[in-house]
Amino acid sequence: MQNSAMKAWWDSSHMAGGNAAYVEELYEAYLDNPQNIPENWRQIFDDLPKVDGVAVESNHSIIRDDFKKMAALGPLARAGNGNIASGDTPSDERQVKVLQLINAYRFRGHQHANLDPLGLWKQERVRDLELSHHNLSEADFDTMFSLGSYAVEAEKLKLGDLFKSLNRTYCGSIGAEYMHITDTEQKRWLQHRIESVEAKPVLAREDKIKILKGLIAADGMEKYLGSKFTGAKRFSLEGGDSLIPMLKSLISEAGAAGAKEVVLGMAHRGRLNVLVNVLGKNPSVLFDEFSGKHDASLGAGDVKYHAGYSSDFATSGGDVHLALAFNPSHLEIVNPVVIGSVRARLERRGCKDGSLVLPITVHGDSAIAGQGVVQETFNMSQTRGFSVGGTVRIVVNNQVGFTTSKTEDTRSTQYCTDIAKMVQAPIFHVNADDPEAVIFVTKLALDYRNKFKRDVVIDLVCYRRHGHNEADEPNATQPLMYQKIKKHPVPRQIYADQLIAEGTIEQHDIDKLVTEYRAALDHGACVVEEWRPMTEHSVDWSPFVGHDWDVDYNATLTKDTIVNLGHAITNVPEKYRLQSRVNKLYNDRKSMIAGERLLDWGMAENLAYASMLAEGTNIRITGQDSGRGTFFHRHAVLHNQDDASTLIPLQHISEEQGKFEIYDSVLSEEAVMAFEYGYATAEPTTLTIWEAQFGDFANGAQVVFDQFLSSGEAKWGRLCGLVVLLPHGYEGQGPEHSSARLERFLQMCADHNWQVCVPSTPAQVYSMLRRQMVRPMRRPLIVMSPKSLLRHPLAVSSIDELASGVFHNVIEEIDEIDAQQVKRVVMCSGKVYYDLLEERRKREQKDIAIIRIEQLYPFPQQEINEIFAQYSHVKDWVWCQEEPQNQGAWYCSQHHFWESIPKGAKLTYAGRAASASPAVGYAAIHSQQQKALVEDALTIK
Ligand code: AMP
Repeated sequence: MQNSAMKAWWDSSHMAGGNAAYVEELYEAYLDNPQNIPENWRQIFDDLPKVDGVAVESNHSIIRDDFKKMAALGPLARAGNGNIASGDTPSDERQVKVLQLINAYRFRGHQHANLDPLGLWKQERVRDLELSHHNLSEADFDTMFSLGSYAVEAEKLKLGDLFKSLNRTYCGSIGAEYMHITDTEQKRWLQHRIESVEAKPVLAREDKIKILKGLIAADGMEKYLGSKFTGAKRFSLEGGDSLIPMLKSLISEAGAAGAKEVVLGMAHRGRLNVLVNVLGKNPSVLFDEFSGKHDASLGAGDVKYHAGYSSDFATSGGDVHLALAFNPSHLEIVNPVVIGSVRARLERRGCKDGSLVLPITVHGDSAIAGQGVVQETFNMSQTRGFSVGGTVRIVVNNQVGFTTSKTEDTRSTQYCTDIAKMVQAPIFHVNADDPEAVIFVTKLALDYRNKFKRDVVIDLVCYRRHGHNEADEPNATQPLMYQKIKKHPVPRQIYADQLIAEGTIEQHDIDKLVTEYRAALDHGACVVEEWRPMTEHSVDWSPFVGHDWDVDYNATLTKDTIVNLGHAITNVPEKYRLQSRVNKLYNDRKSMIAGERLLDWGMAENLAYASMLAEGTNIRITGQDSGRGTFFHRHAVLHNQDDASTLIPLQHISEEQGKFEIYDSVLSEEAVMAFEYGYATAEPTTLTIWEAQFGDFANGAQVVFDQFLSSGEAKWGRLCGLVVLLPHGYEGQGPEHSSARLERFLQMCADHNWQVCVPSTPAQVYSMLRRQMVRPMRRPLIVMSPKSLLRHPLAVSSIDELASGVFHNVIEEIDEIDAQQVKRVVMCSGKVYYDLLEERRKREQKDIAIIRIEQLYPFPQQEINEIFAQYSHVKDWVWCQEEPQNQGAWYCSQHHFWESIPKGAKLTYAGRAASASPAVGYAAIHSQQQKALVEDALTIK
């Protein structure tokens, strides 16, 4: 057995606690002779993990030491070592059984908690929670027992009192799941917070009234919309009303704890309610939207339950800026967007521990269990490049996903939140009809997040009063549930009755609050007392608004500046031992800067970054292999062969330089792309780049391209300067590593929504990247980036070419070809250009001009017209591409080509035949095809 195995067992064991000394004694006895100890203990020790079948005896000293260490940790709740109290009989097995009982409640109490407001859950019998399972009975109720680490005030309790306390703490309206956490400090902290108050907060009258007002607002809003706009889709919150007081409390507490911003992401359920009752959106604006009026500045616009919103919210710690992220219908995808946005805001504030900006993500119960992006986002939560100091995740668990509610259909786990256990997040299930319990877990979750900087989950178990939307008929699919819901009082009513019964408030006061809220809606006035106009405007986007892609810019640099930058980024300390290939590459870079050879792709790209950093621009690059580059070309991160330490030369250009961050990402496309979209939409002054390992892998992030990147500005007016590098090129690597699916990006082009570029030289990639930041425009840039071209002898550039800083949207013929002698013009993009060039040179052909279109969208019509003017006599025009005919640019850009060529001229296609697959799998066929398409392009019939 190994030390770590023992610890893992101990940490996760329901017997862990303060009874280490006793357990060790038992274990000693067991090792002497297993028959010496009771059967149940023998089984436990028999079941202890063994490594490679090695008998447990051999490592007993390690185990014993572990027991001692565990005992030394002791309970946090009060002084003392937490062992069995000496006043009792330590050898009394009942004492151990009592400690087992406590741990059984900690582990499994949630399974008997009162979580479902409708009372429809079928709870399995959990024998661990029964006295008899522990050889205890009511006959022991008057016996005093030590409590181990059970964190109540008393040192000892009668079993009867302890049993009641355990039931109140773990089986009331809160089901706490945290025993899967292996870190003892976290576990003890949670136990202390939960057990010391028996999971029941002590709330002042004013707090209770606040909760009640939140419920009145939640209910009042829905009723108002329901009566004024009957049948209109609003994705009512009804049933989950306590989300409103919950969010308000969370924001207030976050502000009190020092947060300056809160970024929220949520799907459509309850969103209108949150917009009006939490963010303070003016109800009259919402009513206008219901009546069909809209903000013309938002272009294509979006439905009202996708709209984002920004405001400030007064708290005891000062105003907190609130941003509700815009989001599409695709469930859960907004979560990484929110977290990326939070990361950008934290970095802007120079906050490394997450304390100044809080992400809150609101999930649906079916979606959190069903959507893979949730797993991806959890997996990112503690990584260097993506962590934000924890996210508070709230599940609005209304127990139905559209029309599907049977858990055997929606998931394979007991709870919808089980996915959170992958990062050992604590999970608090709470009955939404008990809003005080909701407020208790909300504060607990926030404090946990702030203390441990980790994700935490609240499972708000509620129901959905109507169907999926208000036009839906839920009885058709959930008859029994909806019979129950029909008779079930609304949360406001339940809580109001409770407050009246305990004498906190009287009915006429409640009636007054209800009337006041309704009157405020009638007046169309903001209904959030804490609402404040936005002052926390951390970024001014106005310089970036209203520019077209062809706005003038100047990105020139002197040659000397570039040379100096080149020296700076190739300066590696002598004692730093580079791997031999990397060493050669850096030596080559030095000779490029010395003017002894032309610059290659990797050098030009690094110089682009260096030049922008020197100008004070921040840069963030992520992707699965960004540090090195999938194809060994970037080497922005160096690895010392002696001690594996890393060095990033781009971080050492000058004292005043911008920040350079480069991270190899988790192996995800969807969540990482969404995160970078969130980052870039929150930070226009950082060049943000996401790189796919191979371009076709970007299809794992298709939702992000479709619903955010291509359309976010049109739908929501949100600008985004994200650069997406997608390695693309036909090099015989088969169907999956050839195409970045250029056609898909071109097909989504309209309204100048983004740019699609295929740079073919090092100077072009340099200028393209610089242009993206030097221009005041912020729109996504999709790049078909090269693979073999990274080392192609013809794909090289001079320092002079870089110095000009101009990105050529079109590159005209570079060889000495007399335009008047030209009989055919071949247009192309990307790597195939070099195949065409080499073959034409080989053939010494002078009657064909080859023109590269480096920016396929927005189509550079004016520049094309200027270049094509010299070929106005040419009747034979060809578009040549490597991709099959149904892919690449042929179908999507053809209308632009026709527009560009002389009237009456013919336009033909040279490329692969249409194909269901992006590329053939056999290298020999690939070569044949490649040869044929070049031949085709260069042969005038
Ligand atoms: P936020 O910090 O996200 O709440 O944004 C505050 C304000 O900045 C918004 O109300 C917008 O006016 C503006 N803004 C934020 N992000 C963008 C963006 N990506 N594009 C344009 N304007 C933005």
